[in-house]
This record gives sequence, C-alpha cells and structure tokens, in this order.
Amino acid sequence: MGNGWITTLQTVMDERMINTSAELNDYRRSAAFGEYTPEAVVYVTTPEEVSRVLKIANEHQVPVTPKGLSTGLSGGDIPIHGGIVIDMSRWRASVEIDPEDLVARVSPAVLTSDIHAAAEAYGLMYPPDPSSSNISTIGGNLAENAGGPRGLKYGVTKNYVLGLEMVTPQGEILNTGGRTIKNVTGLDITSLVVGSEGVLGIITGATLKLIPKPAVTQTVMAAFATMELAGEAISKTLAAGILPAKMEFIDQACAQAVEAYEPLGLPTDVEAIVLIEVDGHPSAVREEAGDVAEIMKARGGSRVRTPQTEAETQNIWKARSLVSLAIDGIRPAKASEDATVPRSQIPQMMKRLSDIRQKYGLQLVVFGHAGDGNLHPNILCDPYDKEEIRRVEQAAGEIFQAALALGGTLSGEHGIGTMKAAFLEDELGAVSVEMMKRIKSAWDPNNIMNPGKIFADEGQKLILSRQVEQ
Ligand SMILES: Cc1cc2nc3c(=O)[nH]c(=O)nc-3n(C[C@H](O)[C@H](O)[C@H](O)COP(=O)(O)OP(=O)(O)OC[C@H]3O[C@@H](n4cnc5c(N)ncnc54)[C@H](O)[C@@H]3O)c2cc1C
Repeated sequence: MGNGWITTLQTVMDERMINTSAELNDYRRSAAFGEYTPEAVVYVTTPEEVSRVLKIANEHQVPVTPKGLSTGLSGGDIPIHGGIVIDMSRWRASVEIDPEDLVARVSPAVLTSDIHAAAEAYGLMYPPDPSSSNISTIGGNLAENAGGPRGLKYGVTKNYVLGLEMVTPQGEILNTGGRTIKNVTGLDITSLVVGSEGVLGIITGATLKLIPKPAVTQTVMAAFATMELAGEAISKTLAAGILPAKMEFIDQACAQAVEAYEPLGLPTDVEAIVLIEVDGHPSAVREEAGDVAEIMKARGGSRVRTPQTEAETQNIWKARSLVSLAIDGIRPAKASEDATVPRSQIPQMMKRLSDIRQKYGLQLVVFGHAGDGNLHPNILCDPYDKEEIRRVEQAAGEIFQAALALGGTLSGEHGIGTMKAAFLEDELGAVSVEMMKRIKSAWDPNNIMNPGKIFADEGQKLILSRQVEQ
C-alpha cells in the first residue's frame, strides 16, 4: 500500500492526526503473543471528516480500525493489520430527547450512561444497559449490538435503533431507517449495520427508541451453596410466569474478587449469588418481588435480601458491575467469553464449565446474565506462559463447542471480533458464512474496514480479549 497516503491524510486531519512511534505507543495493543500498532491515528469529529479519511483509505487500500473507548471484549478495536485507527472519542457528545416521539438523537461518542440520564430526566428509559455503560460509547454499543442485565426483559441495542447515520467504506454519508416506530421501506440496512463490528463502515449518529420508565424497581439477592441450585432457582422463577428486568449470576471467585476490590457486602462463602430486579407498577412489583424471594428460599437460597433503601440497592448493582474490573487484577490477562445457551440449559452449561475447569486446570470464573442464558466464563491466565495459553485455547474451544451442543451461540453480546472469528463456521455453517462474506465484499470491495474481524484471516487465532498492562 506504500505510505504516500500518510502525507495526504495529514493534509486533511492536520493536528488531529498522530503518526510518530512515540505517539502511537498509546495505541499499541497486545493480544496473545502479538503486538499491534497502527501507522496513524485520526481524531474525527464530523461525518464529513470521516468521509474524507475513508476516501483516502479506500483509494490507497489502507486498513481502517474504528475505535470508541476500547472496552470491547472480543478484540474488535485491535489494529491487527496496522493502517489507520479512527478514534471517535473526541467527537462532541450530544443527546437530544424528543419526549413526544419518544426518541433520542445521539452522536457516536456519547457515553451510554449519558443517554440513560438524559432520557430519565423526561421520565423515559433507554433500556440497553451494558455493565460498561459509563465507560463505553453508543457507537461501540451499536457496532457490537451490546446487551446488558436488562436484556432479559427489554432486549438488546438492536431493538431500540430506528435509524443510523454512517459513512460507507467509499466515504459516502448514508442515512438508514428514520424516526418512526414502524418502517418497512426497502431492505433493512439499519439491522445489518447494528452488530456489524465496524466491518461495514463508521457509525456517526443514531436515532434511538425510548420507552416510559417503569414506576418502581425492587431488587432481590440470594446466595446458593451450589451452582446447580442457583440454576434451578433461575429456571423456576422464569417458569412461574415472572419476567424480571434483570436476573444476574456471580460465582464465588467473582464475589471474592469484588469484595477484595471494594467491599460491598457480597457473600463470599457460597458457590453462587443470584441478583434479580423486578420493575413495573408498585403493587405488581411488591407481589412479584415477594414471589421471587419465596422461590429463592424454596429452591435452597439462603440470606435472601430485598433491600429497602436506595443505597443498599445501589451497592448490590455496583458489586455486579464491578465484577469484570475486579477479576482483571487477578492474573495478567483474561479470555472473556460470552457463550450463550437457552436458559433451560444453564445448569447443564454450568456443569460443563466446571468439567472444563478441572480438565485443563485453569482459573475459570463465571458471571453473567443468567436470565437470558448469557454466561461470561472468563479464563484468567498469563499470556507469556505458552503452555498455559495452549490450555486456554483448548478450553475456549471446548466452551464454544459446549454452548453449540446445548443449542446456544458463540456470542450473546460481545461480538466475534478477532477472538471468535476462527470458530464462526462451527455455528453458522459454510453457506451462511459465505453469504455474509459476499455482503461484506459488496459493501467494501477493498476490504479496508476492520479486516480480520468477524471473518478470520488465514490461521488467525487471537483468543485474549484483554491483556492487563503490567
Ligand atoms: C467492565 C465491562 C463490562 C462490560 N459489560 C458489558 C455488558 O454488560 N454487555 C455488553 O454487551 N458488553 C459489555 N462490555 C463490552 C463493551 O463495553 C461493549 O462491547 C461496548 O459496546 C464497547 O464500546 P466501546 O465504545 O468501548 O467500543 P470499542 O471497544 O472501542 O469498539 C468495539 C467495536 O466497535 C467498533 N466501533 C466502535 N465505534 C464504532 C463506530 N462509531 N462505528 C463503527 N464501528 C465502531 C470497533 O471497531 C470494535 O470492533 C463490557 C466491557 C467491560 C470492560
């Protein structure tokens, strides 16, 4: 590709481009034995600027990696082919709420938690709530089709996107969908782009659907001596006709990590903790929370708590949202999976994870969105210990196979990225993958957008999502 493009890019981006090795060091990313550094980083702030950058990249066939706040857990923002990183994080954050149409118009780098706050000021709710809401961008959420604890009742990001503004790999500015609840005009490009992990272009704005905020919520927390008992309590609650807003699960190692990180009162002497939130009309919530607490007790739950103060409730959910950060500190790296199974299969999946942990002698901890079967097995490891990494690779492969054998999927919400690309065909089959590749090459014939993500390069196997810098 030569590097005459760097001079051209410099004339367009001026001081909002960096390309010296000292500056680029901050963008160097490590992932399982490999180190990846882009040749240039640009800080874009308008769709027109993105358009100019992509036109240059396309003309010179330079790989482009979009980047929000790099909290992704499947390695989607790693510049594995060098080229240009388009850093969205300096884009002015804006959220405009229209309380009559119940929509929010957002810029790509706004934090998801800022959308929550803006909607709540009008008595409205933007339901998708990744646990990273206050450290991730809506652009990243849209690209990953992010979920979160409320996914059980309210669905995921794609269920709330009415329209998008994006820039195609050729640099054209494209608007998809609109701001109506119903819209079936033409092919549904909005749905194609949500969850496309940056391989089809750069998302520069979105129109999101809001809903009225439920009047009240009530949390219930229960501790279980064994994983199996926790799994059964979850199944029984859902079978009883109760649809909680959230139904989360933390294993003992995760609870211990959180308590070491910041003591918040989680029990650390049990195998599993289940956290539930019901929401809606006050009388229904009172009744449902009571029923949930009874089911927890009847299925072996101990220390069942229904917090009555806002502070106590917030502590419980803070503990849940800290799990991922708390386990980061235990070993130098982690392979973060989000294999998802039909919820009836949760106890079976737990059993398989326990077998895999023993078979490979690895530090495998589990937490996740148990109500929708979206578990997060995390293998904590040392990326420079080749023997351990070989075991991690084998264990990750077995986790994927176990999820698929139980009728599940490789990813419930983190996306395929670089980490799971090598396994795509195992779930989708050759025809499906081929159709997806044809769509990708029609959109992006020069394959400049985030190459090596979703679709594996020859021999690609990058399994670690986050390597904690020592
Ligand atoms: C503590 C913690 C908790 C988390 N909890 C959850 C959770 O509950 N649910 C969940 O779903 N995820 C969760 N995640 C994962 C992560 O936060 C989400 O995937 C999030 O959507 C990533 O946003 P980001 O801004 O950090 O994007 P990045 O990590 O920077 O990028 C993610 C992907 O999106 C692409 N991308 C970014 N911006 C754009 C854009 N504007 N246009 C096109 N492509 C773009 C990138 O190329 C990359 O492929 C968690 C992560 C952490 C660290």
